[in-house]
Amino acid sequence: MLELRSYLSGQWAGGSGAPQVLLNPATEEPLARASSEGLDLRGALDYARSKGGPALRALTFAERGALLKAIADAMQAERDRLLELGIANGGNTRSDAKFDVDGAIATLLHYAEIAGGLGARKFLVDGEGVQLGRSARFHGQHISVPRQGVAVHINAFNFPAWGFAEKAAVALLAGMPVLSKPATSSAMVAHRIMEILVEKKVLPEGALSLLVGSPGPLVSLLGAQDVLAFTGSGDTGARIRSAPNIIRESVRVNVEADSLNAAVLGADVEARSDMYELFLKDVVRDMTQKAGQKCTAIRRVLVSKQIHEEVKSDLVELLSGLKVGNPAEEDVRMGPLATASQLAEARDGIEKLQGTLAFGSLSPFPHKGFFITPILVDSPGDAVHEHEVFGPVASLLPFNDNSAPLVVRGNGGLVSSIYSQDQAFIEQLALEIAPHHGRIFLGHPKIELSPGPGTVLPQLVHGGPGRAGGGEELGGARGLAFYLQRVALEGSRPVITKLIG
Ligand code: NAP
Repeated sequence: MLELRSYLSGQWAGGSGAPQVLLNPATEEPLARASSEGLDLRGALDYARSKGGPALRALTFAERGALLKAIADAMQAERDRLLELGIANGGNTRSDAKFDVDGAIATLLHYAEIAGGLGARKFLVDGEGVQLGRSARFHGQHISVPRQGVAVHINAFNFPAWGFAEKAAVALLAGMPVLSKPATSSAMVAHRIMEILVEKKVLPEGALSLLVGSPGPLVSLLGAQDVLAFTGSGDTGARIRSAPNIIRESVRVNVEADSLNAAVLGADVEARSDMYELFLKDVVRDMTQKAGQKCTAIRRVLVSKQIHEEVKSDLVELLSGLKVGNPAEEDVRMGPLATASQLAEARDGIEKLQGTLAFGSLSPFPHKGFFITPILVDSPGDAVHEHEVFGPVASLLPFNDNSAPLVVRGNGGLVSSIYSQDQAFIEQLALEIAPHHGRIFLGHPKIELSPGPGTVLPQLVHGGPGRAGGGEELGGARGLAFYLQRVALEGSRPVITKLIG
């Protein structure tokens, strides 16, 4: 069985303890093992701080952008192998695996392009300078410089390629070295990416490290110049945020957590219209893509009482034609959940929702693998606004006239979507729910190749308040701010003007 080692302090190293075994979730066949026990994490962080940081800070934004382009090119050259690993270790269909790997490459290339625009600078000049006193000589100017620590990235299991790339692209462009920790259960894709980058010597020494296996004391070793970006469950996020050194040293933390994303079908939308068909397509895509294991997937489907039965029977019809099974088979449209514990949690979660099952079944599959059918819950109880079921599960909620109070009961979300052509309705609802979200998706049938609300684009911010973790990533150049320290320069204008070049 393959042993997945970590890449720390410029070398590959395996842990000593009992390893965690990584499986193919469709067959339960063991694929690899990993352990991080006994690895020198303190040394690895110091190595990144002392080698990778200075090397990256010596480069201009344009030069760092060239590194991102080189990472993207190296991944592109091995795309087929990465897709195979996503299918085998992640339970992804080929299309799901492409969503992850191609999304990763596109995000790296987007940040490489942003780097071109930032040019030959090594830090950012923030806004115009200001005159501070009577004399024009007394001057102030903000600049943003790379922090001198390590950017530690802890990722969830569902996007091993994209999760790695969307965080690493921004940190490396800002000039911070990265230590990336993929979720152990699906780490084979991220591990292969690291192997490719090491083999091809794409990055300076210490610029990128990979920890495979449990995080051990990693979080407790971070200090004031480090940053920690976490994606995963709200519970783990809260534990990380409350670690004593994180509080004491004011370690900058970004949390991307759970979300009860809603999709609202406006009362103006008639059945069979283009808008109606788009809405159905987006709901079914979000329920089944990656077997619903997407933080941005539509969980709550809000429709007016008049059209409720019609939407229900159309969704049931669309879901009926969909083949669930081993994603290595070509006609399979939805694979299994990632692990046995994800399956157990999803089953528990569906019970908690307390609605009727309009589609799907909780009966176990007659063969191995962590399978569940898509589940459409009709008219669930209040738990639907409190509990995220991380699987191919959505709930249909009929409403009387105003859907906004229902949407905001999610207590902070990554994205909610509105499907309507009534401009006044769109404006009112969008602005009412906006403070509770990181993104509002306005569905429109005339947008060609619309990716739906579930796709995170690097141009727009990803994150959300409250339950979603209160974090923010990406958003083009906005994402750099997390890795940079803004500092005000105050003094003589000619000195400051020279300093900022
Ligand atoms: P998880 O159990 O919280 O694990 C996430 C990551 O944290 C994994 O790498 C895990 O490592 C690590 N971890 C676990 N305990 C830790 C600790 N005490 N200290 C430091 N790291 C620790 O979440 P998950 O089950 O992988 O992911 C599913 C959840 O993530 C869902 O709730 C979903 O909504 C959320 N999610 C959110 C987003 C977003 O962008 N907002 C994206 C994807 C997923 P091990 O794997 O080694 O245990």
